[in-house]
Amino acid sequence: MKDLINKQREYFNTNATKSVAFRKEQLKKLQTILKQNEALLLDAIFQDFKKSEFDTYSSELVFVYHDISEAIKKVGKWSKIKRARTNLLNFPAKTFVIPEPLGVTLVIGAWNYPYLLSLAPAVAAIAAGNTVILKPSELPPNTSRALAKIINENFDSEYFHVIEGGVAETTALLAEKFDKIFFTGSVPVGKIIYQAAAKHLTPVTLELGGKSPAIITAGCNLKMAAKRIVWAKFLNAGQTCISPDYILIDPKIKSEFIALVKSEIEQADYSTENDNYVQIINNQNVQRLAQLIDSEKVIMGGEINVAERLISPTVLDNVTFEDPIMQEEIFGPIMPILTYNNLDEAIAKVKSYPKPLSLYVFTKNKNDRAKILRELSFGGGGVNETIMQITNHHVPFGGVGESGIGAYHGESGFKSFSHYKSILDKPTWFELNLKYSPLSAKKLKWVKFMTGRK
Ligand code: NAD
Repeated sequence: MKDLINKQREYFNTNATKSVAFRKEQLKKLQTILKQNEALLLDAIFQDFKKSEFDTYSSELVFVYHDISEAIKKVGKWSKIKRARTNLLNFPAKTFVIPEPLGVTLVIGAWNYPYLLSLAPAVAAIAAGNTVILKPSELPPNTSRALAKIINENFDSEYFHVIEGGVAETTALLAEKFDKIFFTGSVPVGKIIYQAAAKHLTPVTLELGGKSPAIITAGCNLKMAAKRIVWAKFLNAGQTCISPDYILIDPKIKSEFIALVKSEIEQADYSTENDNYVQIINNQNVQRLAQLIDSEKVIMGGEINVAERLISPTVLDNVTFEDPIMQEEIFGPIMPILTYNNLDEAIAKVKSYPKPLSLYVFTKNKNDRAKILRELSFGGGGVNETIMQITNHHVPFGGVGESGIGAYHGESGFKSFSHYKSILDKPTWFELNLKYSPLSAKKLKWVKFMTGRK
């Protein structure tokens, strides 16, 4: 690993990765080899957790391809030197800002969308002119292997390389110095990454998780709320970082909501045979999720097939904040339903948890909407919609507080892998002698005047 990192640093120092033409060429190459190897990618992920072609394409590859095309189109603009205003004290200088790559970067991926969460940050790193070492999650072994094969057979290791492995390999990587670490994963591992990065003062982006609520107020379009929430909750069998983790609903509309949720689940036909559902990633997570299902509170689903690693879409009613399911991020196909007496109480409950990655509010009431958006802090979210905010690359995607540090997608991804170098360029034909001795009260007056003080 040391050798690989040294080789990447040497290569970066040749400045080869910096020209816009080089970046575009590499992005085009990545696009081509992914397209050429799509069958391998689709087969690998199906073997790992029965994710279908439709789901893999629509929730992963389509966004990777889009990120690549967008970067090819915009990298020239994003990496342009930008003029800025100059303050009076520096008259008659010019000021500009140079976006520059950080250097040798490490991308650590999570397993739940293994292609998207590995490749989207790598695309941003390449667009910004860095070298990349990518460490995908080891939990889906076939997707990790497929990524390693495709990348390592087509890119020089001194520029872009995949290292496979789990805790041991990641720990060894983290001992080395990188110029940027981009991590997607859980909060506890995020803390390990942050500590390791701190030793080298390496900047990080941490894309973490947490319990993302969906708040439903009386008078909303309840049918649409149920439809969108059911889709979002059971997509990828609930193994989605921005999935609505729990439902907080006005008790007056709860039974109607439950009836609508049941009907949506029945209509959706969640079965792996019809490609509408995926397996839980491993047995450990099946066991963990099984323990979160309180059989006395199950009003739908609750069937667990350990051999197949399948858990049917499960709805729990009369859940309290003290229940085990409310003590951790669920990350599985279980929808707990809780009620609130008034919005202040709902807000206070959400605030009692760490700041979530996402929050969804289903309402027609403008005051309730405004109150929730003003008073609660969260990474991002939706009004009357779930998950789809992630598809809009025009806005940053990231967490806040325990749900993450930094953001990416579109230009914010480029920014997270860049440093913005501000330059003051001053001609020599003029010098304001205020800073040189002899200092005087008159000069101080001028300094105050020129910096806007009286
Ligand atoms: P994880 O934290 O277990 O693993 C993530 C990565 O860290 C993997 O590559 C893994 O090999 C590595 N890792 C695991 N333990 C490590 C250790 N002790 N030291 C060093 N590296 C280690 O997370 P996961 O199970 O892959 O993903 C699930 C979590 O990720 C959930 O909390 C979810 O909300 C979050 N997530 C967040 C986003 C986001 O965009 N914010 C996206 C997907 C998942």
